[in-house]
Amino acid sequence: MVRTVLGCEVGRVTPEEFRQFGHRLVDWIADFRRDIDDLPVRSTVEPGWVRTTLAAAPPEKPESPEAILEDLSKVIVPGLSHFQHPRYFAFYPANASLASALGDMVSTGLGSIGLNWEAAPALTELEELTCDWMRELLGLDPAWKGAIHDTASTGTLVAALCARERASDYGLDRDGLREGPPLTMYSSEAAHSSVAKAILLAGIGRSNMRLVPVDSAYRLDPEALARAMAADKAAGRRPAAVIASIGATGAASVDPLAEIIEVARAHGAWVHVDAAMAGSAMILEECRVLWNGVEEADSVSLNAHKWIGTVFDCSLLYVRDTEHLVRVMSTDPSYLKTHRADDVTQYRNWGIPLGRRFRALKLWFHLRLDGAQAIRARLRRDLANAQWLAAQIEAADDWYLTAPPMLQTLCMRHEPGGRGSMASDARDAHTLRWTEAVNRSGRAYLTPTILDGAWSGRVSIGAEPTERTHVEALWRLMQDAATDAGRSS
Ligand SMILES: *Cc1c(COP(=O)(O)O)cnc(C)c1O
Repeated sequence: MVRTVLGCEVGRVTPEEFRQFGHRLVDWIADFRRDIDDLPVRSTVEPGWVRTTLAAAPPEKPESPEAILEDLSKVIVPGLSHFQHPRYFAFYPANASLASALGDMVSTGLGSIGLNWEAAPALTELEELTCDWMRELLGLDPAWKGAIHDTASTGTLVAALCARERASDYGLDRDGLREGPPLTMYSSEAAHSSVAKAILLAGIGRSNMRLVPVDSAYRLDPEALARAMAADKAAGRRPAAVIASIGATGAASVDPLAEIIEVARAHGAWVHVDAAMAGSAMILEECRVLWNGVEEADSVSLNAHKWIGTVFDCSLLYVRDTEHLVRVMSTDPSYLKTHRADDVTQYRNWGIPLGRRFRALKLWFHLRLDGAQAIRARLRRDLANAQWLAAQIEAADDWYLTAPPMLQTLCMRHEPGGRGSMASDARDAHTLRWTEAVNRSGRAYLTPTILDGAWSGRVSIGAEPTERTHVEALWRLMQDAATDAGRSS
């Protein structure tokens, strides 16, 4: 890989070298996925270990593929917790189907950037096509138009900006937020942290953000929302947006969307639906009742890179009024105007970045190589596994669920002596002890969560290779860890 140009040695991977090393890397990735079961699910490295184990100085000369492969296997893999592991039950399912990984590889290999339609017509039109495919699979009306963003955090920010501009009659074209009544935005106490972040970054201000109380199932209380909006209006503020959660993070709780929309409509507020995780379930007809009313919302975001399994990053944002979206998001300098400006989609005007990755390829590969039927069957398998585990927990002595089981997410506690027998501090300590023991074992990974001010264990089922046997193994691990933790306290 070393050549001489003008007397200097230069390294550049040629297409032939790429072919050779690339084949080895594909083998390496395939082996990693095949043998992943043997790895500890949660990384066991100490902070700083990765950094200090790798070379500190940048290489002046080309290094060999072998040296890089060795670092991958000996440092990078141990330095990761494995989302693709069959006993991964942490955070949320973040599946990276190998079908979509191939599409992502093509995207990188093509090295295309969608600055505008002309720069990459196929990038634009495949994004339109795959967003329409997904819309159809989700059972949404054709009036919805979608774009692929990096994350749901970005999607929610874009929605908040659209809401702000609608409520301020395009204040960004005048004095921004300095004129008119203060705008208020609403979500629930259980909403994902990215929701508060989007509201704050949209310039609404913490004192105009309302995190509405939830009911005992961690769902936004629509009556409390109505009261908060009415009080704000009476005080001279203008309610601009409500962000509803379909599958909030802690317990995957589902806000009553139809009721929320009715309340929001009375104030002309934008309704954004954050279905980042649970939106995956909407490709199952039997789950769509969970987002009843969605057709009346203004925007919806969901991550194909979670349970559905298109490799990160692939977050869909659908809006109904693309004209409004484009008016908010476009600044259109002359160097980006082309002879085809009007009759084609210019995705730079549908979000924040100008440059655009060819993300549609991984979604296209995923849907074409796996097919919707197989994806639906996998989701149904995961739902059945979650129901099985919920039944075990409910039937076991000293175990109980701390939130209604929702989709594939379960929250639970173990209390030696039975529910209500421990003081809350001791119970929190016990919960953290047994969950940490499970994670330290390397044999499964789950992330505890705080519900109602107290710790719960939390199991999120839905990694692509997770079968019933893996959930059974987890349940045995949980029981052993809880028994041990109870004995040592
Ligand atoms: C995962 C998740 C998010 C954030 O997703 P990113 O794509 O990482 O920004 C937001 N809301 C909910 C409900 C989520 O589950």
